[in-house]
Amino acid sequence: MCFCGATTGRGFVMLIPENQREFAVDIVEKLRNAGFEAYWAGGCVRDRLLGRVPKDYDVATGAVPDEIRQLFGRRRTLAIGAAFGVIHVLGPKGAGQVEVATFRRDAAYSDGRHPDNVTFSSPEEDAARRDFTVNGLFYDPIADEVIDFVGGRDDLQNGILRAIGRPCERFAEDKLRLLRAVRFSATLGFSIEAETLEAVCKMAAEITVVSPERIAMEMREMLTSSARAEAVRLLGCTGLADAILPEFTTGEPILTVINRLEVPGFPLALAAVLCGLVDTAAARQVCNRWRLSNKETDRVCWLIGHFDALDGACSMRWSALQPIVVAEGIEDLLALREAALPGCPEAAHCRAILKRPPEVLDPPPLLTGDDLHEIGVPQGPQYRLLLNRVRAAQLDEEIHSRDEALKLVDLLIMES
Ligand code: ATP
Ligand code: MG
Repeated sequence: MCFCGATTGRGFVMLIPENQREFAVDIVEKLRNAGFEAYWAGGCVRDRLLGRVPKDYDVATGAVPDEIRQLFGRRRTLAIGAAFGVIHVLGPKGAGQVEVATFRRDAAYSDGRHPDNVTFSSPEEDAARRDFTVNGLFYDPIADEVIDFVGGRDDLQNGILRAIGRPCERFAEDKLRLLRAVRFSATLGFSIEAETLEAVCKMAAEITVVSPERIAMEMREMLTSSARAEAVRLLGCTGLADAILPEFTTGEPILTVINRLEVPGFPLALAAVLCGLVDTAAARQVCNRWRLSNKETDRVCWLIGHFDALDGACSMRWSALQPIVVAEGIEDLLALREAALPGCPEAAHCRAILKRPPEVLDPPPLLTGDDLHEIGVPQGPQYRLLLNRVRAAQLDEEIHSRDEALKLVDLLIMES
């Protein structure tokens, strides 16, 4: 797992794949020169064999955490995961950090998610504790040699996602692997081997022992990937969706819609999954359950609440359409409408409007609360109502100046 890119005082440094790779080679070399066995391990080996750029590099080694820290220096290492044998080694600019982990064997898993403790052991046992064969490969970057204890190379070649060992036992140890199975199958485009798939379906309901934050992390990865439709289809047919998102009912139309989204952020993708199935209150419950930030939660709910608000946008009064068009989530809302209703005139209409200059799209208001206060309007709910009426009249070009706005306020107060 990657914590973050290397940072400077000014924030994140862009990761450069070639720098990351070179740094991961240097680490193996340094460990070797110090007399330790060391390989690249897991996802980075899989991705490189598939011709993909790895997100990050993991190194597995015979060195124990103290030895790793001694070798790379305490200032260039983080020992957050040391109890599990994991040390993060910080790289030079653009190289990020590499997780260096001691070969280990996991003890029993009594909570269905984490091993009770780990014992340092051999590469073979380290491969066996990993989740899927294609994630259980080692690679020696110096000899350019793959080390395969689990049959991962064949599965990689044949496009098969297969649990290492007995699937039921492996999923019972760590139930997050149920969701990982779906994620890897979808994102790699691999079919899930029969016994592995059977175990996922059989045990799907048990996914709820995994923390909601961790479930949300997996959902984020799945829904923002280009394989999101396949991931959602698999979540539906394995029964995992019933367990983690009972609000959702899968069907061809929804898959088509989410497939049409182009590089969506998580809130947009989630809104697309839920749109038409839930109201904003139920959407908020899903977001709260997954502990999403207020910002993301508000975006999901706003999208669901405003999907229909664009109906008839082409002939809507400007004062009704303008607040939607200038809202922060408008691009997401248009993307959602276009995905759900391709060729819909409302989205095209709004996109044309969005080309107007900002001072036309969202002119400064003619009156503010301070103005109302100055003319002695008592504080209260009336304030907002008056300001809204004045703003609507301004946008609809019924009034053009502060004086006209104040006159309208007088009129409205007299009427009320
Ligand atoms: P990604 O591209 O998502 O990073 P990855 O395979 O690198 O995929 P990580 O979560 O970064 O996945 O984990 C690195 C490696 O650690 C995996 O390839 C796998 O070998 C092992 N691993 C990670 N999580 C688990 C787990 N829950 N159970 C068993 N092995 C795991
Ligand atoms: Mg990884």
